[in-house]
Amino acid sequence: MRKPIIAGNWKMNKTRDEALQFIYAVKDHVASTDVVESVVCAPFPYLRCLVKRQGAFLRVGAQNMHFKSAGAYTGEVAPEMLTSIGVSYVVLGHSERREMFNETDETVNKKVHAAFENGLTPIICVGESLEQRETGATNAVVDTQTVAALEGLTVEQVKRVVIAYEPIWAIGTGRTATAEQANETIGYIRSVIERAYGREVAEAVRIQYGGSVNPSNIKELMAQEHIDGALVGGASLDPKSFLSLVNYQG
Ligand code: PEP
Repeated sequence: MRKPIIAGNWKMNKTRDEALQFIYAVKDHVASTDVVESVVCAPFPYLRCLVKRQGAFLRVGAQNMHFKSAGAYTGEVAPEMLTSIGVSYVVLGHSERREMFNETDETVNKKVHAAFENGLTPIICVGESLEQRETGATNAVVDTQTVAALEGLTVEQVKRVVIAYEPIWAIGTGRTATAEQANETIGYIRSVIERAYGREVAEAVRIQYGGSVNPSNIKELMAQEHIDGALVGGASLDPKSFLSLVNYQG
């Protein structure tokens, strides 16, 4: 049985006061980690203050990091810096970073390795553009991105990755993939993992859907065979909405 994982991605939003208001509003109301893993991925400056107040069941994640451990990389954040302040997850290869910040399959792969070397769980984003979906290239795109991201990992590490299937056309657009479309592509990603690492590994990997997930569509998405969670942008900003997402079972 794969444990569901629901992660909020605040992107570049919230003031420090808003981040604090959020954490005080949600920390004691998040479902137990026995039933779901709940994560909030916040901007770097707020990570420590969220970790300090995260409560029993909420975990804190970063939205990016560098793959090197130290050096002359002005403006960058190293993996150890995140673990040293209690961060446990990191989103890697989000489409906004691939599109606007030159993130490539190769840098994503290096970051995935660095995440494991430093005890962080990577949430690896893959997904196609609208044009790629319309020209029937969806499976080829997620296949290439998934294989490249996992390159060189041990089988035990592959089992522990979280993959977020995020069709770019559904991110922040209010246009959600249907539950069937999401399930189909996520099932395909699972088959890609099975092809490379075998059935047992493919059955262990958690694959989230991301793209305009909100409190009204979470249940239908989570009812699908292959969908093991959600990576949520807009609807994760409001404490009430975040709580309805992570408590979708209750
Ligand atoms: C995201 O930021 O990864 C995302 C899926 O955003 P939204 O939920 O706003 O579409």
